[in-house]
Amino acid sequence: PVRVRFCPSPTGNPHVGLVRTALFNWAFAKHHQGTLVFRIEDTDAARDSEESYTQLLDSMRWLGFDWDEGPEVGGPHAPYRQSQRMDVYADVAAKLLDAGHAYRCYCSQEELDSRREAARAAGKPSGYDGHCRELTDAQVEEYKAQGREPIVRFRMPDETITFTDLVRGELTFTPENVPDYGIVRANGAPLYTLVNPVDDALMDITHVLRGEDLLSSTPRQVALYKALTELGIAKRTPAFGHLPYVMGEGNKKLSKRDPQASLNLYRERGFLPEGLLNYLSLLGWSLSADQDIFTIEEMVAAFDVTDVNPNPARFDLKKCEAINADHIRLLDVKDFTERCRPWLKAPVAPWAPEAFDEAKWQAIAPHAQTRLKVLSEITDNVDFLFLPEPAFDEASWSKAMKEGSDALLRTAREKLDAADWTSAESLKEAVLAAGEAHGLKLGKAQAPVRVAVTGRTVGLPLFESLEVLGKETTLARIDAALA
Ligand code: GLU
Repeated sequence: PVRVRFCPSPTGNPHVGLVRTALFNWAFAKHHQGTLVFRIEDTDAARDSEESYTQLLDSMRWLGFDWDEGPEVGGPHAPYRQSQRMDVYADVAAKLLDAGHAYRCYCSQEELDSRREAARAAGKPSGYDGHCRELTDAQVEEYKAQGREPIVRFRMPDETITFTDLVRGELTFTPENVPDYGIVRANGAPLYTLVNPVDDALMDITHVLRGEDLLSSTPRQVALYKALTELGIAKRTPAFGHLPYVMGEGNKKLSKRDPQASLNLYRERGFLPEGLLNYLSLLGWSLSADQDIFTIEEMVAAFDVTDVNPNPARFDLKKCEAINADHIRLLDVKDFTERCRPWLKAPVAPWAPEAFDEAKWQAIAPHAQTRLKVLSEITDNVDFLFLPEPAFDEASWSKAMKEGSDALLRTAREKLDAADWTSAESLKEAVLAAGEAHGLKLGKAQAPVRVAVTGRTVGLPLFESLEVLGKETTLARIDAALA
């Protein structure tokens, strides 16, 4: 059975790269009716925070992910927070030392640095040189007498390591490129290099799907799994699949610190989880050449990690918005009406709750649904319905009000006064006729009407908007614009 894991470190805000990794693991687990383990890698007390932990869980829930084992749900391998598993790592480190798969390294940072420099200058591999691999008892005594505190280092086998990456195919690493590496700090704190594969082994993970940035740690982990298997701690070496880099502006790797990368930003702007996930799935994967919009169920049914493209994927905010817009159109209208609520409330909507009117909202919502890219756009798009006067700004006003606009508005007022206010079509006819009287096409004729009534040059479908606003208010606003 498939067992995959999502194992973020709770440092800072969740970012889109992390969400893509979670998505691919989640979809892979669902596709294979496997198990998703959610593990918190919080062994770095200096960088991890409880606030980030809470945010991570909240984000996963908001995105609609569920997990079979992990925080809040428990499971046979609990606890799922590494900070609560320190005794496990100490035990495994001791076993690795006993079996000779690891050794204590007494080299100081200065010594490491100067030998690395020398190796570089000589054009030799500059990783750890194995200095402490075979220390004699006397040497160890001397180091101890000097007060040195050793780290624990894993002894890489002197052999080439090959594995078949699910995304990239066969990869080979020669020993010079994978030197012995630290697994426990001098103060006894275990490192990612140890705790991540140890937990994958103990939690019986079958497939490791993670970002390409971790590819260089994989040959080390493959060697460690071999040692763990020999010690009876691991059942197997999992299969690995490294997901492509996500590139941002200027074709640079999208970094955690990039504002575009922050998941919170997408939530605040009112992306739908389904729209965002649809877009993120396209960063390295596709359902088919001619279908960009799909549901999460369609993705799960089709998802195969071996179809992931190893080439870097480009993050394109415009496309992300366009896909989100499509998902807004796909919502059931009732659902849409409800999902907009956070943006119709104070403090996001400064005019709420006093000026908010439920009946008007229900009437305009279906028309808003045809226009929004993200839900947060709703606030400014409906304020004309609730404010006593439209929120004018100078730029929109002068953009729409040209020579002759007054005359047009006067005619439009007359025609609208005579129109049938139970039909948006009739209101359109009225403005169309006013335009004709002044030699203007509908687009040009409706611009001053829109600004006079809504305060903006772009917005929701105009005639439906006028109908919801009502005759009296619409005519009064045109009068005010003419005054
Ligand atoms: N905690 C690691 C990270 O967030 C997990 C890496 C992995 O998937 O192995 O980068």
